[in-house]
Amino acid sequence: MSFAEPSRDCPLCPRLVGLRTELRAKFPTWSNAPVPSFGPIGAKLLIVGLAPGLKGANRTGRPFTGDYAGDLLYATLKKFGLAKGEFVADREDRAWIPDTLTLMNVRIANAVRCLPPENKPTPKEAATCRPFLVAELADMKNLRAIVALGRVAHDAALAALGRKASAAKFAHGAQHDLGGGRVLADSYHCSRYNTNTGRLTAEMFEAVFAALMPKLG
Ligand code: SF4
Repeated sequence: MSFAEPSRDCPLCPRLVGLRTELRAKFPTWSNAPVPSFGPIGAKLLIVGLAPGLKGANRTGRPFTGDYAGDLLYATLKKFGLAKGEFVADREDRAWIPDTLTLMNVRIANAVRCLPPENKPTPKEAATCRPFLVAELADMKNLRAIVALGRVAHDAALAALGRKASAAKFAHGAQHDLGGGRVLADSYHCSRYNTNTGRLTAEMFEAVFAALMPKLG
Protein backbone atom coordinates (compact mmCIF):
# COMPACT_ATOMS: atom_id res chain seq x y z
CA MET A 1 0.00 0.00 0.00
CA SER A 2 1.52 3.31 -1.05
CA PHE A 3 1.16 6.17 1.38
CA ALA A 4 -1.52 8.79 0.87
CA GLU A 5 -2.82 11.22 3.44
CA PRO A 6 -6.46 10.77 4.46
CA SER A 7 -8.90 13.06 2.71
CA ARG A 8 -10.05 16.24 4.48
CA ASP A 9 -13.41 14.58 5.00
CA CYS A 10 -12.21 11.11 5.99
CA PRO A 11 -15.39 9.46 7.29
CA LEU A 12 -13.90 6.49 9.14
CA CYS A 13 -14.26 7.60 12.81
CA PRO A 14 -17.82 8.83 13.45
CA ARG A 15 -17.05 10.43 16.82
CA LEU A 16 -14.12 12.41 15.41
CA VAL A 17 -16.10 13.37 12.31
CA GLY A 18 -18.81 14.72 14.64
CA LEU A 19 -16.31 16.87 16.51
CA ARG A 20 -14.73 18.06 13.24
CA THR A 21 -18.15 19.08 11.86
CA GLU A 22 -18.98 20.97 15.05
CA LEU A 23 -15.64 22.82 14.98
CA ARG A 24 -15.92 23.71 11.30
CA ALA A 25 -19.18 25.52 12.09
CA LYS A 26 -17.75 27.18 15.19
CA PHE A 27 -14.27 28.08 13.88
CA PRO A 28 -14.50 28.28 10.07
CA THR A 29 -10.97 29.69 9.67
CA TRP A 30 -9.34 26.72 11.45
CA SER A 31 -8.05 23.68 9.58
CA ASN A 32 -10.42 21.22 11.38
CA ALA A 33 -9.28 18.25 9.26
CA PRO A 34 -6.90 15.30 9.43
CA VAL A 35 -3.43 16.79 9.87
CA PRO A 36 -0.93 15.72 7.19
CA SER A 37 2.52 14.62 8.25
CA PHE A 38 5.33 17.15 7.99
CA GLY A 39 8.83 16.58 6.65
CA PRO A 40 10.43 14.53 3.85
CA ILE A 41 9.26 10.96 3.23
CA GLY A 42 12.93 10.08 2.62
CA ALA A 43 13.90 11.04 6.20
CA LYS A 44 15.82 8.64 8.42
CA LEU A 45 13.87 9.66 11.52
CA LEU A 46 10.12 9.59 12.14
CA ILE A 47 8.62 11.27 15.19
CA VAL A 48 5.22 9.88 16.12
CA GLY A 49 2.88 12.01 18.20
CA LEU A 50 -0.49 11.09 19.62
CA ALA A 51 -3.03 13.27 17.78
CA PRO A 52 -3.61 16.93 16.86
CA GLY A 53 -4.34 19.34 19.70
CA LEU A 54 -7.49 21.47 19.58
CA LYS A 55 -5.79 24.86 19.19
CA GLY A 56 -2.53 23.42 17.87
CA ALA A 57 -2.39 21.27 14.75
CA ASN A 58 -6.17 21.03 14.48
CA ARG A 59 -6.26 24.81 14.13
CA THR A 60 -3.12 25.43 12.07
CA GLY A 61 -3.02 22.23 10.00
CA ARG A 62 0.63 21.43 10.76
CA PRO A 63 1.87 19.00 13.42
CA PHE A 64 2.97 20.63 16.68
CA THR A 65 2.18 24.14 15.50
CA GLY A 66 -0.01 26.53 17.45
CA ASP A 67 0.35 25.23 20.97
CA TYR A 68 3.20 24.80 23.43
CA ALA A 69 4.36 21.30 22.45
CA GLY A 70 5.94 22.57 19.23
CA ASP A 71 8.12 25.13 21.02
CA LEU A 72 10.17 22.44 22.72
CA LEU A 73 10.02 19.99 19.81
CA TYR A 74 11.17 22.38 17.09
CA ALA A 75 13.77 24.08 19.29
CA THR A 76 15.22 20.64 19.98
CA LEU A 77 15.20 19.62 16.32
CA LYS A 78 16.98 22.85 15.42
CA LYS A 79 19.58 22.21 18.09
CA PHE A 80 20.43 18.87 16.47
CA GLY A 81 20.43 20.24 12.92
CA LEU A 82 17.19 18.44 12.07
CA ALA A 83 15.29 21.66 11.39
CA LYS A 84 16.12 25.12 10.15
CA GLY A 85 14.33 28.40 9.54
CA GLU A 86 11.85 30.43 11.54
CA PHE A 87 9.18 28.56 13.46
CA VAL A 88 6.05 30.68 13.92
CA ALA A 89 3.87 28.84 16.38
CA ASP A 90 0.93 31.18 16.21
CA ARG A 91 0.17 33.10 13.05
CA GLU A 92 -2.43 35.24 14.82
CA ASP A 93 0.24 36.68 17.10
CA ARG A 94 3.15 36.84 14.66
CA ALA A 95 1.49 37.12 11.27
CA TRP A 96 4.15 39.53 10.00
CA ILE A 97 6.93 36.96 10.37
CA PRO A 98 7.19 34.40 7.56
CA ASP A 99 7.31 30.80 8.80
CA THR A 100 10.28 29.24 7.02
CA LEU A 101 10.60 26.13 9.16
CA THR A 102 12.08 23.23 7.18
CA LEU A 103 12.67 19.74 8.49
CA MET A 104 15.80 17.88 7.45
CA ASN A 105 16.08 14.11 7.71
CA VAL A 106 13.06 14.01 10.02
CA ARG A 107 9.34 13.61 9.50
CA ILE A 108 6.54 14.09 12.01
CA ALA A 109 3.31 12.10 11.99
CA ASN A 110 0.45 11.56 14.38
CA ALA A 111 -0.80 8.12 15.38
CA VAL A 112 -4.35 9.46 15.08
CA ARG A 113 -4.70 12.18 12.46
CA CYS A 114 -7.90 13.87 13.65
CA LEU A 115 -8.54 15.75 16.87
CA PRO A 116 -9.98 13.45 19.54
CA PRO A 117 -12.09 14.86 22.39
CA GLU A 118 -9.89 15.58 25.43
CA ASN A 119 -6.85 14.38 23.48
CA LYS A 120 -7.98 10.78 24.03
CA PRO A 121 -8.61 8.62 20.99
CA THR A 122 -10.39 5.35 21.67
CA PRO A 123 -8.52 2.12 20.91
CA LYS A 124 -10.91 1.62 17.98
CA GLU A 125 -10.08 5.06 16.54
CA ALA A 126 -6.35 4.38 16.93
CA ALA A 127 -6.80 1.07 15.10
CA THR A 128 -8.93 2.68 12.37
CA CYS A 129 -6.32 5.35 11.65
CA ARG A 130 -3.39 2.92 11.84
CA PRO A 131 -3.30 1.95 8.13
CA PHE A 132 -2.15 5.50 7.32
CA LEU A 133 0.86 5.06 9.60
CA VAL A 134 1.51 1.55 8.28
CA ALA A 135 1.62 2.86 4.70
CA GLU A 136 3.74 5.84 5.69
CA LEU A 137 6.29 3.60 7.42
CA ALA A 138 6.40 1.35 4.37
CA ASP A 139 7.21 4.35 2.18
CA MET A 140 9.98 5.63 4.44
CA LYS A 141 12.68 3.60 2.73
CA ASN A 142 15.55 5.30 4.58
CA LEU A 143 14.01 4.97 8.05
CA ARG A 144 16.54 4.25 10.80
CA ALA A 145 14.74 5.44 13.93
CA ILE A 146 11.34 6.28 15.33
CA VAL A 147 10.80 8.54 18.33
CA ALA A 148 7.49 7.83 20.05
CA LEU A 149 6.14 10.73 22.07
CA GLY A 150 4.28 8.97 24.87
CA ARG A 151 2.98 5.48 25.46
CA VAL A 152 0.03 5.68 23.05
CA ALA A 153 2.37 6.72 20.21
CA HIS A 154 4.78 3.94 21.25
CA ASP A 155 1.99 1.34 21.10
CA ALA A 156 0.77 2.76 17.77
CA ALA A 157 4.26 2.55 16.26
CA LEU A 158 4.70 -1.04 17.44
CA ALA A 159 1.27 -2.03 16.12
CA ALA A 160 1.98 -0.31 12.78
CA LEU A 161 5.18 -2.35 12.56
CA GLY A 162 3.15 -5.51 13.20
CA ARG A 163 4.48 -6.08 16.74
CA LYS A 164 2.68 -6.67 20.00
CA ALA A 165 2.72 -4.01 22.73
CA SER A 166 4.40 -6.61 24.96
CA ALA A 167 7.37 -6.74 22.54
CA ALA A 168 8.78 -3.49 24.00
CA LYS A 169 7.63 -1.69 27.12
CA PHE A 170 7.40 2.11 26.99
CA ALA A 171 9.99 3.87 29.14
CA HIS A 172 11.29 7.40 28.72
CA GLY A 173 14.83 7.30 27.28
CA ALA A 174 14.59 3.64 26.25
CA GLN A 175 15.70 2.44 22.83
CA HIS A 176 14.16 -0.75 21.47
CA ASP A 177 15.85 -2.74 18.73
CA LEU A 178 13.56 -3.16 15.71
CA GLY A 179 16.04 -5.25 13.75
CA GLY A 180 17.89 -4.29 10.59
CA GLY A 181 19.69 -1.51 12.45
CA ARG A 182 16.43 0.31 13.23
CA VAL A 183 15.38 1.48 16.68
CA LEU A 184 12.29 2.75 18.44
CA ALA A 185 13.12 5.43 21.02
CA ASP A 186 10.69 6.51 23.71
CA SER A 187 10.14 9.94 25.18
CA TYR A 188 7.52 11.46 27.38
CA HIS A 189 5.31 13.71 25.28
CA CYS A 190 6.63 17.28 25.02
CA SER A 191 3.31 18.72 26.24
CA ARG A 192 2.99 21.77 28.43
CA TYR A 193 1.55 19.55 31.18
CA ASN A 194 4.62 17.29 31.21
CA THR A 195 7.09 20.17 31.18
CA ASN A 196 5.16 22.21 33.76
CA THR A 197 5.05 19.27 36.15
CA GLY A 198 8.76 18.51 35.62
CA ARG A 199 8.01 15.05 34.23
CA LEU A 200 9.94 16.11 31.12
CA THR A 201 12.68 18.74 31.03
CA ALA A 202 14.36 20.19 27.95
CA GLU A 203 17.53 18.32 28.97
CA MET A 204 15.70 14.99 29.20
CA PHE A 205 14.12 15.58 25.79
CA GLU A 206 17.42 16.56 24.20
CA ALA A 207 19.07 13.44 25.62
CA VAL A 208 16.65 11.26 23.63
CA PHE A 209 17.80 12.91 20.39
CA ALA A 210 21.46 13.01 21.37
CA ALA A 211 21.38 9.23 21.84
CA LEU A 212 19.82 8.76 18.40
CA MET A 213 22.06 11.02 16.34
CA PRO A 214 24.79 8.40 15.70
CA LYS A 215 22.13 6.16 14.11
CA LEU A 216 21.15 8.91 11.64
CA GLY A 217 24.65 9.60 10.37
S1 SF4 B 1 -8.64 9.65 12.79
FE1 SF4 B 1 -7.79 8.84 10.88
S2 SF4 B 1 -9.18 7.19 10.23
FE2 SF4 B 1 -10.25 8.44 11.79
S3 SF4 B 1 -11.43 9.93 10.61
FE3 SF4 B 1 -9.44 10.89 11.09
S4 SF4 B 1 -8.09 10.44 9.38
FE4 SF4 B 1 -9.86 9.09 9.22
